[in-house]
Amino acid sequence: MSSSNETPISLTRTRTPHPRPADSSLSFGKVFTDHMFVMNYTEEKGWHDPRVVPYAPFSLDPATSVLHYGQAIFDGLKAFRGADGTIRLFRAQRHAERLNKSARALCIPELDVNLVRRSFEAIVAADHEWVPSTPGTALYIRPTIIATDVMLGVHPSHSYTYFVICSPVGAYYKEGVKPVRILASDNHVRAVKGGLGEAKTAANYAASLSGQAEAEKQGYTQVLWLDGVERKWIDEVGTMNIMMKIGDEVITPPLAGTILDGVTRNSILQLLRDWGHKVSERPVSIDEVMAAGRNGTLKEMWGTGTAAVVSPVGELGYKGENIKIGGGQTGELTQKLYDAIVGIQYGRAPDAHGWTTPVKVTVAA
Ligand SMILES: *Cc1c(COP(=O)(O)O)cnc(C)c1O
Repeated sequence: MSSSNETPISLTRTRTPHPRPADSSLSFGKVFTDHMFVMNYTEEKGWHDPRVVPYAPFSLDPATSVLHYGQAIFDGLKAFRGADGTIRLFRAQRHAERLNKSARALCIPELDVNLVRRSFEAIVAADHEWVPSTPGTALYIRPTIIATDVMLGVHPSHSYTYFVICSPVGAYYKEGVKPVRILASDNHVRAVKGGLGEAKTAANYAASLSGQAEAEKQGYTQVLWLDGVERKWIDEVGTMNIMMKIGDEVITPPLAGTILDGVTRNSILQLLRDWGHKVSERPVSIDEVMAAGRNGTLKEMWGTGTAAVVSPVGELGYKGENIKIGGGQTGELTQKLYDAIVGIQYGRAPDAHGWTTPVKVTVAA
C-alpha cells in the first residue's frame, strides 16, 4: 500500500490487450507491453498527473522542441521473474537517481526520485503478465523525458512529458557469453569534458552512430571510445562502460566528466571489492592496454551495461594492429561477474547489498 502522503498514480486499463509473444521469439526492444506510465510538467503545476494508461502513440506538433534540439533524456533498467515467480527490479532507486542527474545536465526540471521509482513499480505491476519467465529473459523498462514546448527558439523548454514504456526482451546471450571484437577509434569521439558524457541523453547516442558504423565497416562489433582531447585515454565501449584486468589489477576509467555512471559498472566494482580484488578507477591509456596485450599481462577486458551485464572483448584493434585477449575466449573473472549479477537479478543468489526490490502484483478480480 502507498502511504497517504504519496501522490496517487491513476490506472486506466486497456480494453484491447495484446497477445504476448512467446519467450523464444523475443529480441530487444521490438514489442511493447499494453500500458505506459505518463506524467507531465508545466511551470504552473510542476510534475503532475502521474498515470498508467493504455500504450498509445503521442501526437506532437512538428515544432515540438525535442524534435529539433534533442532536449531528451532516458534511462534503462530491467525487471526479472525469478524461478519462485517473484518479479524483481534491479537497482531501481539508483536508476531513478541517475535520471535526475541526467535531467540536471539537460536543464530538465528534477523529479521526485521516490515517484520515479514508483513509476517503475506501477508500470511493471500493471503489465506483470508481460514479464517473461524463461531464464535470461526480462522486462526492459525505458523511462524517458522529452521537451514539449512548441517553439523553435533555443532555450530550455517550459513543458515536458515523462513516460515509461516496457519491452519484454530475450536472453542477450542465447548460446552463452560471447566475446566481441572492438576497434579503438582515433577519429570519432563520443563525449568531451564539460559536455553531455555523464548524462544518459539521446544526443550521446546520435553522436555515437558514425563511429559505430565505421567500426562495423571495418569488421568490428563495437567502438572503443578514446577521450576527445588527447585521443589517448580510454572512455567507454559502444554504449557500455569498460573494464580490464592487467596483471592482478582490475582497471576502469574514473567518472571524471565524460563517462556515464553505469549501474552495472557500480555493481561490478562493488562485487570485485567484496571479493577482495585490487580495483582501480584511474585513467588508462590505449598505449598501456596495447602494451599489456603485447606482453601478455592483459588478462581480460569487458564492457558492462544493463542489456548484456558483461560483454567480453576477445580482440582489440588500434591503428592497424590487432591483439587477442584471453585467446579470444570469455575470461574467468568476466564469467564469474556475469553469473554473480544474474544470480542476484533472478533471486537465486543472496542480495547482500539490497539491490533488488520485489514488485507487488495485485491480480485484478
Ligand atoms: C546506459 C549506458 C551505460 C551502461 O549503464 P548501465 O546503468 O550499466 O546500464 C554505459 N555507457 C553509456 C554511454 C550508457 O548510455
